[in-house]
Amino acid sequence: CSSQQTCEVQATVSSRVQANITSMLAPQANRTMALGKWEEYWQENMIGFHQPVVHKMLESNIDKVFAGRTGVRFFFPLCGKAVDMKWLADQGHSVVGVEISEMAVKQFFEENNMTYSEEPVPAIPGAKVFKSSEKNISLYQCDLYNFSSSIGGQFGAIWDRGSLVAINPKDREKYAALIISLMAKDCRYLLDTLLYNPELYPGPPFFVPDEQVQSLFGKSCDIELLQSVDVMEDMWRGWGLDFMTENVHLITPKSV
Ligand code: SAH
Repeated sequence: CSSQQTCEVQATVSSRVQANITSMLAPQANRTMALGKWEEYWQENMIGFHQPVVHKMLESNIDKVFAGRTGVRFFFPLCGKAVDMKWLADQGHSVVGVEISEMAVKQFFEENNMTYSEEPVPAIPGAKVFKSSEKNISLYQCDLYNFSSSIGGQFGAIWDRGSLVAINPKDREKYAALIISLMAKDCRYLLDTLLYNPELYPGPPFFVPDEQVQSLFGKSCDIELLQSVDVMEDMWRGWGLDFMTENVHLITPKSV
């Protein structure tokens, strides 16, 4: 800030913004889902989040992610068995995903008719990496927080759908720090968030307001809201919700 007075004004504004975010998040602040619960969901096939087709908002914004580049390294945090991974690999890009459920990883390869190899990851006890034999796709079966750039390198692009909105709300700062550490200088990070009234539904998926996207990533990155779509449908209505908006943000490291 330019003077002491400007500094004080900025500090007051930012503490008011933080207080506002905290109150918006209050209804879900202490919600947690154990990793074992996610694995149970896969075992019981309770995977309503899975979509059999490429995500529309990835497809419609993909040129802004590629930005003219070919052979981009894509990262998929909490990847599930998203068919988006195959779609990108088919276009000559490479994909690294992280997913706790081994069942999800195996289903991804099997349902897409890919053969794969399976090996341990020495740096992460108990983890395995599954690699497609034909396509450039490697899926790490482990807890996301055990993954790092020393294991997977840095990425030219990230597709975050069902990931920031799926992790436990209290872990968002830790998650953002990890994601930032995985971003190459030219990284283009496409983040999908959901807006709804968190008083009406406990999540997951959890509510992530734009103000928090700004506070998590705004210090080191530029953030552009690319799309905001009303996605209200009977499923959400059945959960007691009265509106549902899906936002897609493009996040890029600030150039120094
Ligand atoms: N992105 C996928 C899956 C979304 S659901 C899609 O859009 O279809 C969230 C997924 O994250 C689940 O498959 C769950 O098993 C996995 N998961 C949840 N917490 C995780 C963690 N800490 N580390 C790795 N995977 C996790």
